[in-house]
Amino acid sequence: MILFHSLLAYDYPLIPKAVGAKTHCFFGAPEVMDERNNGNMVNSCFVNMGTSYLVIDSGPTYLYALTAYKKMKEIENLPISFVINTHTHDDHWLGNSYYDSIDVKIIGSNAFKNMFKEEKTRMQKRITAEAFKKTTQIFPSIYVKEKMTLTINNRKVLIKSINKKAHTQSDLLIYIPKYATVFAGDLVFNDRLPSIRDGNIFNWLEALDEIREMKVEYVVGGHGVQVDSNSIDMTYNYLHELKTRVSSSLEEGIEIGDVVESVVMNKYKNVNFYKDIHRQNVAIVYQMLEWGE
Ligand SMILES: [Zn+2]
Repeated sequence: MILFHSLLAYDYPLIPKAVGAKTHCFFGAPEVMDERNNGNMVNSCFVNMGTSYLVIDSGPTYLYALTAYKKMKEIENLPISFVINTHTHDDHWLGNSYYDSIDVKIIGSNAFKNMFKEEKTRMQKRITAEAFKKTTQIFPSIYVKEKMTLTINNRKVLIKSINKKAHTQSDLLIYIPKYATVFAGDLVFNDRLPSIRDGNIFNWLEALDEIREMKVEYVVGGHGVQVDSNSIDMTYNYLHELKTRVSSSLEEGIEIGDVVESVVMNKYKNVNFYKDIHRQNVAIVYQMLEWGE
């Protein structure tokens, strides 16, 4: 028997996990996107607002989003009021193409306005065509400039743009006071080392300070399964130590090449991606400090 592989749709192995009484998240693997995980390396969450779901990040593909919503309907069959994209990295929003096909309104940072559709996104280049099937680049249609408040079934959802480059130029915080929950997107990683490539370490730490001062029970990041109020610690402590150590090396007049060699942070060497991105992070922070960015 011949299997026409391209006719079969990839089936994402998605299992919803409860975060408190009102939220379920699909937690991605602590990996980079590839042909094995097909982009299932990012978090996507559904908040039960009583009469609808609010979706935080739509995931990496059309099929992923379709499967996630199907699983959620098995728990409670509710429509979706809105999808919110935490930032512009494609693993967090390519699932918009599914939600758009069922007429759900999508909210995202003003920064999406300046984005153009790429010939092929990073996701499309790295995962199988089968998993990427039906995925198109759909940007949000409602933009958050600074702040926005949604009231869904008498429950407030406060959306705040960080408004300066932190993890990216487009980070949103989504805070639901009634559920004591904040969604922080990729400002919070807790199962892999954060990359500073598209960000700014000073503003990132400032944004984390802001989250730290919020009186919440749950802080849900864009990657990683830890969701208690300490879930920001790994990212915070790493960035803080990195900034401190690179700046004292710079003050001592050590050259960038030597700083990259000497700022070894053994505490984090078993964290995923340390080997791949730590040295790059050191170099980026050195250059930022040197230029006073
Ligand atoms: Zn990101």
